[in-house]
Amino acid sequence: MSLGIWVLGDQLSLAQAALASTAPCEARVLLVESSSVLGLRAYHRQKLVLVWSAMRHFAEDLRQAGWTVDYRIGERFGDTVRAWIEEHGIRELRLMEPADRGFRGAIDALDLPVTLQWLPSTAFLWSREAFAEWAGGYRQLRMELFYREGRRRFGVLMQGEGSGAEPLGGQWNFDHDNRKPPAKGLQGPEPLWFEPDAITQAVIARVEQLDQDRQSQGHHPLPGQLLRFRWAVSRQQALQVLDHFIDTRLEGFGPYQDAMVSGQPTLWHALLSPYLNLGLLHPLEVIRALEQRGLERAVPLAGLEGVIRQILGWREYTHGLYHWFGADYASSNHLGAEAPLPPWLEGEGASGMACMDTVLAELEESGYAHHIQRLMVLANYGLLAGLNPQAFTAWFHRQFIDGHDWVMQTNVLGMGLFADGGRLASKPYAASGNYIRRMSTYCKGCAYDVSQRHGPSACPFNSLYWDFLARHQDRLRSNPRMALVFKQLDKLPAEDLAAIRGAAAAHRDQWA
Ligand SMILES: Cc1cc2nc3c(=O)[nH]c(=O)nc-3n(C[C@H](O)[C@H](O)[C@H](O)COP(=O)(O)OP(=O)(O)OC[C@H]3O[C@@H](n4cnc5c(N)ncnc54)[C@H](O)[C@@H]3O)c2cc1C
Ligand code: SF4
Repeated sequence: MSLGIWVLGDQLSLAQAALASTAPCEARVLLVESSSVLGLRAYHRQKLVLVWSAMRHFAEDLRQAGWTVDYRIGERFGDTVRAWIEEHGIRELRLMEPADRGFRGAIDALDLPVTLQWLPSTAFLWSREAFAEWAGGYRQLRMELFYREGRRRFGVLMQGEGSGAEPLGGQWNFDHDNRKPPAKGLQGPEPLWFEPDAITQAVIARVEQLDQDRQSQGHHPLPGQLLRFRWAVSRQQALQVLDHFIDTRLEGFGPYQDAMVSGQPTLWHALLSPYLNLGLLHPLEVIRALEQRGLERAVPLAGLEGVIRQILGWREYTHGLYHWFGADYASSNHLGAEAPLPPWLEGEGASGMACMDTVLAELEESGYAHHIQRLMVLANYGLLAGLNPQAFTAWFHRQFIDGHDWVMQTNVLGMGLFADGGRLASKPYAASGNYIRRMSTYCKGCAYDVSQRHGPSACPFNSLYWDFLARHQDRLRSNPRMALVFKQLDKLPAEDLAAIRGAAAAHRDQWA
């Protein structure tokens, strides 16, 4: 067999384009587990375990499906792949286009002694070409229009046929029915977790060994704990998570999707992003399952539409924009934010802010935080404090179980930090402590006082928020969606604003 197929770590689907291009008897398949990734980024321990264990399980699935599989564990990709090519006389190597731009460049640069054939990615609903064709028709891109087009194009939650088709329930968006603050004692259902099997335990041992080796060479410990690794690691388990979400959490997803509750890190969230991003689940199969079973069970449309919007809308949109905006997007810094990351983000000490320390502790334990924790606690802080967007994006990439370049850039730089000047979001997602007080239970246990804007016990989100508006008013005042907050800023007495800005500067100066 002179045909080889190299399956990358986020392409773990039997239906992916390179595998679908031939029959199992016609090619050998290669998977490479390379520790050189740690030279680029010190990933959360659980992320490493998830990806490598999922790759090892996928190799078994491939064998069962009749493929000849070579699973190689090596230090460097290039050496490992070259040795495999030579050993098996591979003359043509097929790969599916990776979602992350960097991989394609790195593989092309290996200059392998084979004919390299790149096949267009089938991992998303929208191909890059289809997205470009859609985006080229607009001066200002907005997710809502993209999402509506996706609903029509893929026939999701629609009634009627052809050009007369209408959104089910007569409207596209039910957001006003969602976003409830947490009710007293709010408790979400238990998520479905898994005990590590023998394959996962072997990977855990490898990650611990690699971490120790790195530390003995003078590196910092890898972020995150490995005490309780409970993620799904195979397609079969990922499908169980999907079923469990539909059976136990779909009904509650809508109302409390923006709520944050101490001791409840997952609430009604789907916990599907790690599996979607590795290819264990395809977004279209998830959307179809949600739609079909949600409608059968008469799940309120607001919640059903809400979760489908996340996958058919936001997920496809962030991927499409990543390729549409191109490589330069990664260096965006519209607000000129240059503050270094505070040491507590890297596990040195605590921030003293209950919201931040709660989210960081949950992240440490599992590699996961839900969307509003990411957007309105972590990224909101970064935006207000003026943390450097490239350093903060790299931090997100290191810390999150579901982190990949294609999804981080638009979410962190664009949605979270407004570093792209509004190419993704029509205004910065900037909020004072008041938002966190309303949408979470964190403030009750905090050493800071959320009702204070300045003074020694004032909530840092408050002083940073008003300082952010004052600092960037030249850039942001002309945005009609910011008119109301600038009216409020203008009403602040000058001495109050001076004291607030003094408190913000003192907070930021702690690690400048
Ligand atoms: C600052 C910031 C960083 C983020 N980093 C990542 C990341 O590294 N990886 C990642 O997959 N998502 C990221 N997101 C998007 C979103 O927060 C996660 O997809 C979601 O929290 C994953 O948890 P879940 O599966 O429980 O999602 P749910 O809240 O239950 O949503 C269901 C699914 O919708 C999709 N989704 C929802 N929102 C988005 C979005 N904005 N972009 C892409 N997909 C979305 C995900 O696939 C998710 O699994 C980030 C968002 C922000 C604001
Ligand atoms: S008071 Fe401020 S810092 Fe403390 S939890 Fe509330 S928002 Fe966070």
